[in-house]
Amino acid sequence: MPQSAYQAGGTVSALITLALKNGIIDAAALTGRQGLTPIPRLVTDWQDVVKYAGSKFMAAPTLAAVNAGIQENYTHLGTVATPCQLTAVAQMRANPLAIETYTDPVALTVGLFCNWSLDTRQLSVLISEKLDVSAIRGMHIPPPPAGIMVFETDSGRVQIPLSEIKPLIPESCFICPDMTSEFSDLSVGMFEGQPGWNTLIVRSKPGADLVTTASDEGYLETKAMPPESIAQLTRAAGEKKARALRTLIRRKLINTENGQRAALRMPPEIIEKILTY
Ligand SMILES: Cc1cc2nc3c(=O)[nH]c(=O)nc-3n(C[C@H](O)[C@H](O)[C@H](O)COP(=O)(O)OP(=O)(O)OC[C@H]3O[C@@H](n4cnc5c(N)ncnc54)[C@H](O)[C@@H]3O)c2cc1C
Repeated sequence: MPQSAYQAGGTVSALITLALKNGIIDAAALTGRQGLTPIPRLVTDWQDVVKYAGSKFMAAPTLAAVNAGIQENYTHLGTVATPCQLTAVAQMRANPLAIETYTDPVALTVGLFCNWSLDTRQLSVLISEKLDVSAIRGMHIPPPPAGIMVFETDSGRVQIPLSEIKPLIPESCFICPDMTSEFSDLSVGMFEGQPGWNTLIVRSKPGADLVTTASDEGYLETKAMPPESIAQLTRAAGEKKARALRTLIRRKLINTENGQRAALRMPPEIIEKILTY
């Protein structure tokens, strides 16, 4: 498969391939695509991982593949998922119903950076006027100030202004405080201005061990991030949190009382800290 099949450096696909090959996970919940529609896929053969490379910038039912893996009795599942999806996985792993016989079926979570995703049905309506959806080979969003989303198709590139794309962001993305998939072993995003590279955040011992093995065995080439890039990423992640909190407060969806459902609960002193950061 050509290098261009990967969204950026192929870090995610390399890590999942290695984890399957070395038996760290026995199946991986990934996201494929049929036309424009993202499709959950449970992969057990490391050679199949690359088939699902590339970002589908639509909200995806990836966790259906996690559920399928649990039902099929896999005990060391891996998943690649967005922050919202990994929040759900983390809640499931916390065993909120205190089931005595519960065992954690998840061995590896690779989280994607994400600012927003798109509603597939609405996107389909918008772009089917401009291109043949069945001919889409990939999609990407170049960094600012480009202001476009690009679809690679069999007959060439089609660019759509973000001003037409952004109205298709689901409302729930505006209350999501997580840009870098904090509930993960490893988080992976783009590295702006460095095509072919990813940003990688190591968040756990299993994540660190996998990255060390990947580097030792030639699956990954790593180098330290420049301090100014770390500062920029920290700022962007903090701004997403603050934006989400302000929206949650405005919509009365945080720490609600009198039996009203809250979308998020957070100690007031933490809210204050984030908003004044
Ligand atoms: C909706 C969305 C929004 C994103 N926004 C940002 C952003 O704002 N900033 C940034 O730096 N990076 C963002 N990313 C991540 C970025 O596009 C790349 O996925 C990441 O850099 C990994 O690149 P890679 O070459 O290692 O991935 P690859 O090796 O190409 O692997 C991509 C993996 O992503 C999985 N995947 C694809 N689409 C989805 C989906 N919809 N839901 C769950 N899993 C999926 C596939 O299963 C595959 O395993 C976003 C990704 C998505 C899906």
